[in-house]
Amino acid sequence: MAGGKVFLVGAGPGDPSLITVRGKALLETADVVLYDALSHPALLEFTSPSAELRNVGKRGGQNNPSQAWITAQLIELARAGRRVVRLKGGDPLLFARGAEEAEDLAAAGVDFEIVPGLPSPIAAAAYAGISLTHRDLSSSATFITGSDREGVEWTPDAWQRLATATDTICVLMGMRRLEEITAAIARGGRAPETPAAIVQWAARPEQRVLVATLGNIAARARQEGFSNPALVFVGEVVALREKLRWYDKKPLFGKRLLIPRAEHQARETAAKIRERGAEPVVFPVIRIVDPPDPGPLRTALAELAAYDWVLFTSSNGVDRFFAALEREGRDARALGAAKVGVIGPGTRAALQRHGVRADVTAREYVGEGLAREIGAARRVLVARALVARDALPDALRAGGARVDVVPVYQTLPAAAEKGAELRSLLEGGGVDVMLFTSSSTVENVTDLLGADAAALLAKVTVASIGPVTSDTLRARNVNIDATASTYTVEGLLDALEAHFA
Ligand code: SAH
Repeated sequence: MAGGKVFLVGAGPGDPSLITVRGKALLETADVVLYDALSHPALLEFTSPSAELRNVGKRGGQNNPSQAWITAQLIELARAGRRVVRLKGGDPLLFARGAEEAEDLAAAGVDFEIVPGLPSPIAAAAYAGISLTHRDLSSSATFITGSDREGVEWTPDAWQRLATATDTICVLMGMRRLEEITAAIARGGRAPETPAAIVQWAARPEQRVLVATLGNIAARARQEGFSNPALVFVGEVVALREKLRWYDKKPLFGKRLLIPRAEHQARETAAKIRERGAEPVVFPVIRIVDPPDPGPLRTALAELAAYDWVLFTSSNGVDRFFAALEREGRDARALGAAKVGVIGPGTRAALQRHGVRADVTAREYVGEGLAREIGAARRVLVARALVARDALPDALRAGGARVDVVPVYQTLPAAAEKGAELRSLLEGGGVDVMLFTSSSTVENVTDLLGADAAALLAKVTVASIGPVTSDTLRARNVNIDATASTYTVEGLLDALEAHFA
């Protein structure tokens, strides 16, 4: 068996999509991942379900995790033959002790690789609209830590000398000593009017930017409650932000959008939300369980060869169908000559994950559309939820087909404490927008909230993906603020942008 190996991987800062292609590939194949607070939690979704995830940050149980404790784990895991990813925010070598970890690994004879990451000062500058160098304004930039290993990293003399030796100064970990740092730079000869900025939580929906001057930025930062993780930039280039600002100008920037779905179903939607500068809040309102009577599914699976079409209307339906097949020791080949039809791209993608390409994907995201696309059929299996609209089977039967509607799962409301949690999110301003992507999510959310659901939902912006969902919202007296004109998540987010613009 091949020996183990440690990969010191830079996660990049903030937005999880800023990781490198190599970093992502390593996460996908890791046996164990050791991560800490500055790497985005969504990155862990790239790992395989069998990967072991260890939080070694300050919130990982230890108050001040020692380097020795982390390195000991890396060495032990690698010696046990595991592929280990040590995930670090930004770049693993930039003010990150990656070198210390690699030194220990080398001394222990453990194989390792270093995968660079996008450093936070580079990313924060881009996301704040500040260019660290510029042909007219700055021909050099310096990264410096404001951390307080007295006499080693923090020496006021060094800051005074740096003041005029470089054009743009980028300070990491500088918030605690901000007064002393800015005073030392001014004493070193930089004018107090020099533009300065602080970028907190760069490249995240929580990003905050303060633009001031070298002379007053420390006082303003205290007043406005800026704290770590934040970067301080000093130099003429800070003024570029006025023209280059783009991220925190997005219409949905900083808004919290609640997706009332399960974690694994919300991933693609969450990524699309982050792309728009907003923050996804994933909140499952249902539990997916087996249907009360497994008989019809068992019979349908036994007679699978007799169908000329098998239709799926949801990704849950797809996953449950294949899980049932697998339980019988069978796989996708059981579909034989049957053609497969789906409604919508999400269901098509779910099918693809089981190695099957849909013969037909309904262009319209409603059941009637799928029936129209299929045309004449002899015998059709519709694998779906226990409770669902009958438009699809009705339309197929009207066309002369024999249709078996087979429940492959049922949805039950989430536990009661989830209801209380959702209620306090809506009441306490913990969410700005509710995304409704189906009639069933409308029913599940209103059921979970109880009698005053409509009043609670009136406190936030309600967005609907299409006419069927909107009908259900109206039936439950919920006011709709934004409606998609194309019935996709992108369409829904477009409608929200127009609403907030
Ligand atoms: N290796 C990291 C730096 C780790 S030191 C890198 O390459 O970026 C931790 C410091 O990095 C924080 O105190 C802060 O100054 C900065 N930092 C990291 N991520 C940040 C973010 N998203 N926004 C602002 N500052 C960040």
